Amino acid sequence: MIKLYVTIFLITAFIMLVCGVYISTKHTIKQNKLNISIMQLLAIGIFSCLTYSHAISTHLEISSEFGYAFYFMSIDWVLITFLFYARQYTRIWMDQYASALITATIAILDNVSLFFNYKWHHAFYLERKDIDGEWFYAFKINDYYVVHLVFCYILVAMIIMIFIQKSYLTSGFHRNRYLSILVIFVGIILLDVVYLFFDYPVDISICLYAIASIFISYYTLLYNPKTFVEYMLSTITERMECALISFDENNNCIYSNQQANRMFSPTGERKVIEERFKKWRDGKETNSISNTNWNAIYEFNGDEYRFDVHFNKIYDKRGFYCGCYFSFYDVTGDFLAYEEEKYRSTHDTLTGALNRESFYEEARNILDSNPDVEYVMVCANIKGFKLINDVFGVEKGDELLVRCADTIRDRMKQGSAFARLEADRFAVLIPKNRYSEELFMTGMNQISHSMDNSQYRMVILCGVYDIFDREAPVVAMCDGAFLAIDSIKDSFKNAIAYYGDMLRREYMSEQKILAEFETALQTGQFAMFLQPVVTVDGRTTMCEALVRWIHPDRGIVAPPSFIPLLEKTGYIYKLDQYIWEQAARRLAYWSSLDHDELSISVNISVKDFYYMDIYDTLVSLVEKYKIEPSRLKLEITESVFMTEKERQIDIMASLKEYGFLIEIDDFGSGYSSLNMLKEVPADILKMDMAFLAMDKNINRGRKIVNTMVTLAKALGMMVIIEGVENEDQMNYLKGTGADYLQGYFFNKPLPVKKFEELYL
Ligand code: C2E
Ligand code: CA
Ligand code: CA
Repeated sequence: MIKLYVTIFLITAFIMLVCGVYISTKHTIKQNKLNISIMQLLAIGIFSCLTYSHAISTHLEISSEFGYAFYFMSIDWVLITFLFYARQYTRIWMDQYASALITATIAILDNVSLFFNYKWHHAFYLERKDIDGEWFYAFKINDYYVVHLVFCYILVAMIIMIFIQKSYLTSGFHRNRYLSILVIFVGIILLDVVYLFFDYPVDISICLYAIASIFISYYTLLYNPKTFVEYMLSTITERMECALISFDENNNCIYSNQQANRMFSPTGERKVIEERFKKWRDGKETNSISNTNWNAIYEFNGDEYRFDVHFNKIYDKRGFYCGCYFSFYDVTGDFLAYEEEKYRSTHDTLTGALNRESFYEEARNILDSNPDVEYVMVCANIKGFKLINDVFGVEKGDELLVRCADTIRDRMKQGSAFARLEADRFAVLIPKNRYSEELFMTGMNQISHSMDNSQYRMVILCGVYDIFDREAPVVAMCDGAFLAIDSIKDSFKNAIAYYGDMLRREYMSEQKILAEFETALQTGQFAMFLQPVVTVDGRTTMCEALVRWIHPDRGIVAPPSFIPLLEKTGYIYKLDQYIWEQAARRLAYWSSLDHDELSISVNISVKDFYYMDIYDTLVSLVEKYKIEPSRLKLEITESVFMTEKERQIDIMASLKEYGFLIEIDDFGSGYSSLNMLKEVPADILKMDMAFLAMDKNINRGRKIVNTMVTLAKALGMMVIIEGVENEDQMNYLKGTGADYLQGYFFNKPLPVKKFEELYL
């Protein structure tokens, strides 16, 4: 019988060992302190099993006595670690460090006393006992044992209190884990009481250690209450902003969260949801796929909402279908923000019309996707809009733009595109059969009347481009319409102009010139002509280089037909560089013939300043051809100083310092400013007769010429007067003090060879 008990106790110890090994292999789960306290508890528990087993199985008295002593000692430590574990696990009485110290001290004293029991037997003594004919050493208590007992029951009471308090305080989901441990603990204690006080031969409470250690390990480290997890998940899903609806395998709605009810079934009736989704799910082919998502729009209380819908099927571990759920994420906010952003990037915020880029894109789309419809591009422009802003204020200007936009919008229908390209420039692409002059004219009149007052009469100009080349870039169509506007820009009343044959021809010829330009330059079609510039006493010491295009089909083409276009597009710098080089080469050639007295003036365009390094180009030219820089005179017009004045003046100054002479060309033609004469370090002032009104008002013109010559002289500049066409003019000019004269009277621009024949 004793052997049976011992075997049971050893099995108990083994089970505890298994628990310990299991925990140590899974020690990452949950808090470490708790793990450690459980491991300690198990270790001491195993120790008490072994010592007790030894005490009852040995027939050596002293050995059995020590067995019991160690067993009682271990009970102290089992209870102390249990208390420590209970506090860790329940988080109750966590900050009682002092009491821990006291209990440990008492336990140590009790242990010492128990250890020396073999000497005085003050706590217990041994007695032989029989069970079923077998004898073993049982123990009998002495007086001192009470101390040990009281100490142990105080610990027991504390442990029980902790668990009762925790079971009471915790929610229903967690209560059973604390109660289970409490019950098993109380069970152990009761069996122990039976053993001690009712004379049961062996301490069978030890058997319960195994169950206790399994409970403790399981509840403390592994247990996750299912109901709690369910409750937690349903709390989360209830509060979720996304609507959730789940169906079982028979398509019955088994769950819908608050949000879903709010959206689809305000009365909370699941049948409503089932009906609604049965149809809808069928439409989405959810039968064959396990998960998918799509976008949907629903209307609630008259407002439209957008949802990102996810559909998922759920399968069990063996792969059997058990149900499905839908989740609906409200993406209305994101959608609206995206729409707004898109709108803002494609529209003009003031008028709500398309902006330039998106108009070009939209117009292209319309043209491409309606190949059978004929279109016109109508562009509008308010005359002197800047003035409106200045005189009436920006607010009034904005109001006007909005009114223009609204009027245009009213007049167009589906299939048209409308934009504010910039400031006061509008563009509309509409089908030809919907355009009528009357339609636009009444609109324009309406707007300008609303603005008219005694000081100001508003004029709107419209240009219409009949799209005959629909492959052309939209920007070119707008250009065409604005070109038409340019042709009527002097109008004082609202007007519509058409990009007609004339404009079209002009446009075509411009395109042709640009297309031909590069080849013409490379094949030497541009020639330098020279026009003599003579001194008042008739000597030719200077000439001006003027370009001519010797066109294979059109013959000699004069600069006004191509220079302005080349200037507009920036290509002029290539031509100028070419002519400058011709001039430099000619000067070098003349030097070789001992004609160092002759110089050439070349023209410099405003655009040259932006497309190349003028200083470098000119300096390298004179160095390459080894000529005096003062023989290559530079003609610039006042307009050069209209923008970035400081920079251009700096460039002029460095050229002058290098030795070039600078002429101000066409002085008096533009916005001449006397201030400019002061600031720009020019050497020669060149005036054109044509600008001096010499024909209409001869006397006034002459006075101006006289004064200007005197002024230039006073500033230390030489004076050239160009455009001299007859003897009268020449005779008069000789007396003004001007240094040089140039004009058809002396000679027109001549081919270089001809010039050399006459003047070298
Ligand atoms: P500009 O620099 O003022 O050149 C003088 C223009 O007046 C030349 O016209 C010349 O032929 C013309 N002219 C000369 N004498 C008389 C006269 O007695 N009466 C009248 N009515 N006109 C006279 P052109 O050669 O047709 O050149 C026109 C403009 O083209 C030039 O005006 C100049 O601004 C520009 N240009 C010509 N060649 C070049 C060039 O190589 N480079 C640059 N950037 N511009 C050039
Ligand atoms: Ca010139
Ligand atoms: Ca000139």
